[in-house]
Amino acid sequence: MLVAVSLPVCYKGRDRSHCEATEMATNTEGAMFDLHTHTTFSDGVLVPGELARRCQVQGCGGLVISDHVDPSNLEFCIVSLARFAEAVAGAYGEMTVLPGCEITHVPPVLIGDMVDQAREAGAEVVLVHGETVVEPVAPGANRAAIEAGCDVLAHPGLIDPEDVALAAERGVLLEISGRKGHSLTNGHVARLALEHGARLSFGSDGHAPGDYPTRETAETVLRAAGLTTEQAAQVMANNAGFFTG
Ligand SMILES: [Zn+2]
Ligand SMILES: [Zn+2]
Repeated sequence: MLVAVSLPVCYKGRDRSHCEATEMATNTEGAMFDLHTHTTFSDGVLVPGELARRCQVQGCGGLVISDHVDPSNLEFCIVSLARFAEAVAGAYGEMTVLPGCEITHVPPVLIGDMVDQAREAGAEVVLVHGETVVEPVAPGANRAAIEAGCDVLAHPGLIDPEDVALAAERGVLLEISGRKGHSLTNGHVARLALEHGARLSFGSDGHAPGDYPTRETAETVLRAAGLTTEQAAQVMANNAGFFTG
């Protein structure tokens, strides 16, 4: 196993005294929290440093870098992102950067093992690339991701009601996507999630400058999916939860 970072790691800053604090300093009200972004480690166009800076300027309080991974690059990506997150801890003011990944176009039969490997390599937030309607994702990827207990099922497309119910049971968040194409089914995902009590997350799925929304823009996307203002705020609180634990 290749682990280049010393554990346990705190990504909130060099002064680790806050780790023992019962009340975390992160302000969840008004800040943006993005669980889904890409860098040059996969198909994004920015190195992590520029991504982080651009998100900070947009009012981000918590950023997960979730590059596309499969069996070929999982360790490389996650270890590299963990190294970055540790190196910049505390350097972006209120914004915390967490290493994550998006398990992408992996045959469903392998998804369970990949989720375990991602956590072992140091991913703090594990996304699985769901069955978006704009890519030929293998049928069964949604179900396999939920059964594997990933943190977020990204852009789950026309997800089945049974899978939404299972996500609710397993505590897997279903993503409302800020990305063109993937966002076509946001309304479907939001409606079924509300019906079955599944929790939602928001991800910009940003790959390039201009893709990183402010909190206000993210809440507009959430409301456009059919959520009320209060429900949209709850989704951002769900996102924030990854940074305050
Ligand atoms: Zn991508
Ligand atoms: Zn993505």
